[in-house]
Amino acid sequence: MNQDKLWEPSRRIELQYARALRNLARTLIKITKGKSPSEIIDTLEEYAKSRAFIGFAEKVAMKMVTGLFRDVGHSWRRAAYKNGKGRELYEALMKELQGKRGAHLDWLIRDNTYRIVTLPENIGKDVATYIERESLKGRRASDIEREIAKMFPQHTKANAELIARTQVSYTQTNLIRVRAESMGLNWYVWRAVGGGKGDGRTRSSHAAMSGVLVNWNDPPAPEDLFPRFTKTGRPYRNTLGHYHAGQAPNCRCYPETIVDLEEIDSFPARVYMNGRIVTMSRKQIEQLIGGLD
Ligand SMILES: [Zn+2]
Repeated sequence: MNQDKLWEPSRRIELQYARALRNLARTLIKITKGKSPSEIIDTLEEYAKSRAFIGFAEKVAMKMVTGLFRDVGHSWRRAAYKNGKGRELYEALMKELQGKRGAHLDWLIRDNTYRIVTLPENIGKDVATYIERESLKGRRASDIEREIAKMFPQHTKANAELIARTQVSYTQTNLIRVRAESMGLNWYVWRAVGGGKGDGRTRSSHAAMSGVLVNWNDPPAPEDLFPRFTKTGRPYRNTLGHYHAGQAPNCRCYPETIVDLEEIDSFPARVYMNGRIVTMSRKQIEQLIGGLD
């Protein structure tokens, strides 16, 4: 069985979610078409408060989160099955399903709903900020208005797409993490789509993270570990900080839970520890992870 595929977020859920957000962007563009900037801001504000829209956001978030939850549950069962500790993992999973599951899922649904619900308002704020900034430069109101009319559709689509591309991975990682930690599985392998070479869209720092062991309590800062440099030789400023696989904007990476050493591609393996990446032998990793027998 292909381990990589086992933990990768389902394409189907991603596509469904992206489609819903694209439709939302289209609606926002339609209802503001031909309006002045101040009318656009009012329209977006009003739309954000409408029952129909909030219902839509809840439905889309719920579908995405529960879909991922089901898939992650499936991944756990498959991992448990292929692993000698099947029974143990299965029982822990069952217990977790009855316990904290509800609260965590509710939180994830609410968090994702919030991101959608605040989208129209945030775009409205961007419009307001743009007007303010350009007016301060002394630009003519009619010019600013024309520019907004031109940029609005693109800006709205880009914002919706960013949510679509970011939230599925983010939520998936969150679901995997809660479950892994409740079972005392504190390490995962960082997996980048396309592996160490990436697939052309993978950022170089994440491709470099591919295959590195990470502890849930110690997220790395890939941009600091693998800095990119400007033409003048200075490293780009790291605005993302420390985070786990799948939890940066536009990131499609995912964590592969280490259930046993099978998940590790080869030895010695790279491990993220104390702010840097070190190379460790099989024996050292066995000791580090512990309890895997
Ligand atoms: Zn990534």
